[in-house]
Amino acid sequence: MTTFELLEPESVEEATNLLAQHGDEARIIAGGTALVIMLKNRLISPGYVVSLGKLDELHYIHEETDGTLRIGALTTIREVERSPKVQARCPTLARTCGQVGNVRVRHAATVGGNLSEADYASDPPAVLMAARARVRARGPRGEREIPLTDFFKGFYETALAPDEVLIELIVPAAPPTTRSSYLRYLTRSSEDRPCLGVAAFVDVDDRGICRDLRVVVGAVAETPQEVDAAEKLGIGQRLTAELIQTIAEEYARSIDPLSDLRGSAWYRRQMVRVFVRDAVQGALDDGKA
Ligand SMILES: Cc1cc2nc3c(=O)[nH]c(=O)nc-3n(C[C@H](O)[C@H](O)[C@H](O)COP(=O)(O)OP(=O)(O)OC[C@H]3O[C@@H](n4cnc5c(N)ncnc54)[C@H](O)[C@@H]3O)c2cc1C
Repeated sequence: MTTFELLEPESVEEATNLLAQHGDEARIIAGGTALVIMLKNRLISPGYVVSLGKLDELHYIHEETDGTLRIGALTTIREVERSPKVQARCPTLARTCGQVGNVRVRHAATVGGNLSEADYASDPPAVLMAARARVRARGPRGEREIPLTDFFKGFYETALAPDEVLIELIVPAAPPTTRSSYLRYLTRSSEDRPCLGVAAFVDVDDRGICRDLRVVVGAVAETPQEVDAAEKLGIGQRLTAELIQTIAEEYARSIDPLSDLRGSAWYRRQMVRVFVRDAVQGALDDGKA
């Protein structure tokens, strides 16, 4: 590993000032599960590593009166998985976090790190995008909120400026009639990242008509993929098996998948068709979001 100076700010302000001061030479470390691998493999060689470890203020899960969840960036994936508030308000997110890597990774990995890393083969981003979550970022120029639909820009690239810290994840309360599911598909070991993962959030009225449909496919392209035209096919309609199949076909046709060790582009396209269908049907069958 190359040498670097470890900086341990005691407030978010101090952290953002250090990032601004050291520019491209500085990198944040939170749980370290991704950053340490990048350092060990010499993929990055920062002069300064800014640890968020002392920022206890970023470690919480709050539930607002309307059911919105506010999750501090340093909350671990394991804490989200096991939180009764998350299990009650967004059980699909709790279950998804329970599928990330293995329990050792989940104990160290943070929510803020998972999103900021922006590795295309991650699980929580698809669910959080479908849930219309947003993040709060703070930098030397102040704070701003970024919807996750605008957050992922490319391979390991986000809308965060180099001197901004992701401080909070905000998951809005879904209407009580919303149902959801997340299906991930592994092609290698049970602890590997997914070949693809599909999050489906469906809101159906009491006559069985779809009011809202959000389907986000992760791990198949640089960023999580949502196909508006396919979702629109379902809205205002009864989601029959035939219509769900048509929506899945539209996803498979519209997404331009990548190839990697977990599957070729051709194979991923076939799997998008199958897993979009099963995720939407699973959300309808499953129950509460
Ligand atoms: C063996 C293994 C298996 C895994 N399997 C899965 C899986 O199945 N599914 C899945 O989704 N993920 C998986 N992961 C990835 C894991 O979820 C991420 O490594 C982890 O969430 C990153 O969080 P961290 O706190 O460790 O981040 P770090 O490693 O500390 O940082 C990651 C990146 O984010 C930046 N960063 C961190 N926090 C912030 C912040 N608050 N604001 C701005 N930038 C920040 C860092 O500078 C760095 O670039 C796996 C990882 C391992 C090692």
